[in-house]
Amino acid sequence: MWSGAPEVEHDESGLAAAAPRWQAQAACRNLPTELFFPIGHGPRAEAQTSLAKEICNACAVREECLAYALAANARYGVFGGLAEDERREVRRRLANGYGLEDSELEESA
Ligand code: SF4
Repeated sequence: MWSGAPEVEHDESGLAAAAPRWQAQAACRNLPTELFFPIGHGPRAEAQTSLAKEICNACAVREECLAYALAANARYGVFGGLAEDERREVRRRLANGYGLEDSELEESA
């Protein structure tokens, strides 16, 4: 089970570092940022979200990314293979003392 314990790098001010080291291994590092921030909820946004999740599912730093997004309370976009509503659910479960099953991290689409 993935514990969801965020391992966020912080600078000397205590703020999360702007560019964690793991981002150098991100599958999205050379892709347009907009791809991971679909606008709206229509078919086009859903297709964009699915494509972003496919990329995340093959990303070597998916867990780090998700932990970072959860710790930073990122409200929009796809991070670590989860869309904002899915991350809200994870945060709610973590707040209630529940973790995330490994199977939930295997493939999200
Ligand atoms: S999990 Fe997705 S959003 Fe996060 S670094 Fe990897 S490709 Fe980018």
